[in-house]
Amino acid sequence: MKRSILWFRGKDLRLADHEGVQRALNSDQVIPVFVLDSYFFEPERAQELPHRMQYLLESLRELEQTIAACGSELIVLSGRSIDVIPKLAERWHVDEVIAQGWTEAFGRQRDQIIASRLKCDLTLVTGETLIMPGTIRTQTGSSYSVFTPFWKRFLAQAEINAPLPLPNALPPLPQGVRGTGERIPELSDLGITKNPDLIAAGVTPAWERLHTFLNGPAARYSSARNRPDKEGTSRLGPDLKFGTLSARQVYAEASRAELKAQTGAFRRQIIWREFAHDLMWNHPELLREPFRKKFIGFPWTGTEDHWQAWVHGMTGYPIVDAASRQLLATGFIPNRARMITASFLTKHLLIDYRRGEAHFMKWLTDGDWIQNNFGWQWSAGCGCDAQPYFRVFNPILQGKKFDPTGAYVRQWVPEIRDLPKRFVHTPWMAEKSLFDDDYPDPIVDHAAARARFLTHAKSYLSGS
Ligand SMILES: Cc1cc2nc3c(=O)[nH]c(=O)nc-3n(C[C@H](O)[C@H](O)[C@H](O)COP(=O)(O)OP(=O)(O)OC[C@H]3O[C@@H](n4cnc5c(N)ncnc54)[C@H](O)[C@@H]3O)c2cc1C
Repeated sequence: MKRSILWFRGKDLRLADHEGVQRALNSDQVIPVFVLDSYFFEPERAQELPHRMQYLLESLRELEQTIAACGSELIVLSGRSIDVIPKLAERWHVDEVIAQGWTEAFGRQRDQIIASRLKCDLTLVTGETLIMPGTIRTQTGSSYSVFTPFWKRFLAQAEINAPLPLPNALPPLPQGVRGTGERIPELSDLGITKNPDLIAAGVTPAWERLHTFLNGPAARYSSARNRPDKEGTSRLGPDLKFGTLSARQVYAEASRAELKAQTGAFRRQIIWREFAHDLMWNHPELLREPFRKKFIGFPWTGTEDHWQAWVHGMTGYPIVDAASRQLLATGFIPNRARMITASFLTKHLLIDYRRGEAHFMKWLTDGDWIQNNFGWQWSAGCGCDAQPYFRVFNPILQGKKFDPTGAYVRQWVPEIRDLPKRFVHTPWMAEKSLFDDDYPDPIVDHAAARARFLTHAKSYLSGS
């Protein structure tokens, strides 16, 4: 008689294509568990990630129902997982704890602690990425730090298995376990107000998003993905982050023969996600420090006033302000606008990328330690395969090129909604009477800020 704990932990909120679920099917008895870690009993921590919390709790509720439909029950318990899991395993006389492995160092350390405290096996399955991070290697066995060769090697070498099916039923719970869990908290229990403008959470909406994308915008993805004014991308970020869809399910759907020609650029982005995970696997220190070691100790001398202006979308540059406001309102920013605003914060305002990174982690629904860190280091010029530090995005030209009619900035910066097209990215050049005078003049002059950054960076990097 084999008894297992099937431990779901926030990056794998589904039953289909879950290696752990498949493994659990070999046990006679299985106890599905979710641990409400400190975020749930320290509401002030939960309030630090209101949008992700909303997505997580809604998806967890759906998972609970799916597990119930399979004849089992999700046992939800609160406490620190490093304490709770070993205690439960002992109390329930479990032979194996099964969970999906995490890439980040803090997840790996947590699992080492748990493994050392367990009196049974901890089996970590893959599933966060298409293939196990750390397995794509150069001919000489080292890891990659440039995307294109990684991508080529990935296409040549990676064996991506077909997604696993949804089980019809789960093995029974042992006697006495049913009904011993807690209820999943409501957002209001955590002092968080539901944001109605967030994307719908859970497996069902995630599949709908995937199919809507593949049946429409996917065909125009390579050009539209750079256009914040178009709904041109999949919006699957939170689904991939919380694992309501696996990367393998997304990749397989996008690779179906009739779609293949249209989805090459999209699948390439999924492999960027693999690259970011691979990099973090090989360089766990990246959550603390830049990839380019010359940037350790870089003097980010920006001011608090500028930080506040950036956070609240009041820099006077419409495309930067649109991104900041869209983030707070909806938990999402299109990739191009993320790059522009991150570049502006770090280079025009000389504010530490880690501050921007933390702000994005607070508000993005797809806020992901690995991809967010990767995006910020890329934008600041201190990352791996990054935008060179001396390439400073011009927020006016970026706006004109990627939001040519100003539809994006008009939506998020209503003060300038009625400006003629030629002024919509440069409102300070228009008659004041043409727009709401609450909208500020630029807090920095683009040319002067660019020159300041370049001088500052050159002088620091040549001396360090
Ligand atoms: C400063 C900055 C911060 C970012 N923070 C995050 C984050 O916290 N979480 C996150 O998932 N992505 C992040 N990205 C990458 C990218 O912006 C988002 O993945 C994308 O905008 C999400 O929208 P989508 O799902 O519609 O993407 P799509 O274009 O439809 O892409 C599909 C999926 O591919 C992956 N992907 C796409 N672009 C990238 C990329 N450049 N790098 C890595 N993976 C990619 C994502 O998982 C994405 O959901 C960040 C980028 C920057 C520049």
